Amino acid sequence: MCLLESLRRLPYKIMVKLCETYKAKGMCPYHLAFKQESTERLLETLKGGIHHADRLYKLGKELGICPHELSLEVAKRSRVIALSYLYLLDSDLRKVLLINMDKTLDQAILIFDEAHNVIEVAQEVESTSITTKDIESVLTSIKEIKVGKIARNREEFEEFSKYKYAVVRALKVMRQLLLEKSTREEKLYSAKEFITDFELKTRESLLIVMDYLERLVKTAVLRRRRPRNMLSIEEFIDFLNKLIDTTYDERYVHVLSHRGDTVIYSVYCIDPQVAIKPIVEDSFITIHMSATLSPISHYVEICGIPKSVEFKVRPVYAGRVKALIVEGLTTAYEERSEEMYSRIADFLSEITSHLDCNTAIFFPSYEVMNEVFSRMKHIEKPIFVERRGESTREIEEKIKKFKECWRSGGGLLLGVLGGRTCEGVDYPGRELEVEIIVGVPYPEPSLTTYAQMKYYEAKYGKERAFEYVYKVPAMRKVNQAIGRLVRGPDDYGVVLLVDSRYKALMEYLVDWINILGTQSYERTNRILESITSIIRKFRQLT
Ligand code: SF4
Repeated sequence: MCLLESLRRLPYKIMVKLCETYKAKGMCPYHLAFKQESTERLLETLKGGIHHADRLYKLGKELGICPHELSLEVAKRSRVIALSYLYLLDSDLRKVLLINMDKTLDQAILIFDEAHNVIEVAQEVESTSITTKDIESVLTSIKEIKVGKIARNREEFEEFSKYKYAVVRALKVMRQLLLEKSTREEKLYSAKEFITDFELKTRESLLIVMDYLERLVKTAVLRRRRPRNMLSIEEFIDFLNKLIDTTYDERYVHVLSHRGDTVIYSVYCIDPQVAIKPIVEDSFITIHMSATLSPISHYVEICGIPKSVEFKVRPVYAGRVKALIVEGLTTAYEERSEEMYSRIADFLSEITSHLDCNTAIFFPSYEVMNEVFSRMKHIEKPIFVERRGESTREIEEKIKKFKECWRSGGGLLLGVLGGRTCEGVDYPGRELEVEIIVGVPYPEPSLTTYAQMKYYEAKYGKERAFEYVYKVPAMRKVNQAIGRLVRGPDDYGVVLLVDSRYKALMEYLVDWINILGTQSYERTNRILESITSIIRKFRQLT
């Protein structure tokens, strides 16, 4: 929504922060133009109806006034505002937005649509990281600042030179520290250890160095000598602030890891309540909507919702998805082997080669998918495989081609649970009739999941901890995948849950599907008969 060339491509949070400085100093022409316009006249131009962001942006651009300010004015006068819940979960953004929109949470009814994503988004907004490459980029930008160009007198020159020297030295030490402390494996490196190590090496306080950095950069921006890589600098400052703020907070862990030669230092939030609870407590009421929150009591406890009432609406497609558990196969870590992968591949090859409809197979990870797919044989139909790191356009193209295959004997789509082929995509009608979910997508073992387990054990007890750290996130992905089959009253589908462990996970499955029972993977013909007869019946009905 920003028109200023130098800010408009920055992430929203950073853009908003810099925008405040630009406005305060009268440095943005679009803001000045907006202030000279009569708000009432502008709103009259818009007339009634729904004011989409696109429309406001277009109008702002045409008139040469700030669309962001215009949208905030519109929001001030609106009774219903639709926005990504990311803006509310992030406490900094929330504060800025609420003030600018002239709203308070205690008078608001907040509706979280697709609430099954809230927990993950809450943890994401509270987590952050930097890499040794980011530090190098900040270092280059700081070195490029010409003190002689921003200082207005001798005192300032000496002061800014001192800042620059201290910051450059600090950045070099930080980079070196991360390289020295990291190992090939993931490693915990607490904020307290990092700050102590840093201050021992530099003989400077981290807070003072940050203050120097912020003063130097702010002066450069205000004196129209904006450093080249502003994004890296702002993200770096945000990271250090988060690191300091979470030093003694047990709801966060600080982890060193690797990507090739690059070291990553991360602050992970392990308790989503940090972001969710303040909103729930401050709002007049919150409504959380989803067709895949099962069981709801877990969601309520994880989010820290103090008091809740559950309303159930039976979906129009209830009963139109039939599921069968296939036992004798598993992707459990301790049972992964060449033999198990071959067994799964043979089963999938046999089933899919006999189906004449669009079929999707979703796996717990790319690694498992590749192991199994490389062993699958005799499939004479178009196959589309989701690959790690593919561009959005490539994925969309694959999905589009796959969807069209139902007209010509069916295609096969292979993807990853929680990935882009199975979340946020709809496959209505015959675009997808059979879904095979291979394995249970439990989170990979990592220091973060281990730390979260320990933290949840202390908070909820051992049993609940395992449920909340492993079962609930895994089954959220499974339920989301199942939801791809049905979007309207005429949709239907068959799901094969290929892993013996699903027998113990029934209570976490959405309650609008029919579980037909359990069948051994060796009884392929029986399974095929079940699938084809269900599909035939549904096709006759629609
Ligand atoms: S006032 Fe508007 S155009 Fe100017 S910096 Fe802020 S968002 Fe961008």
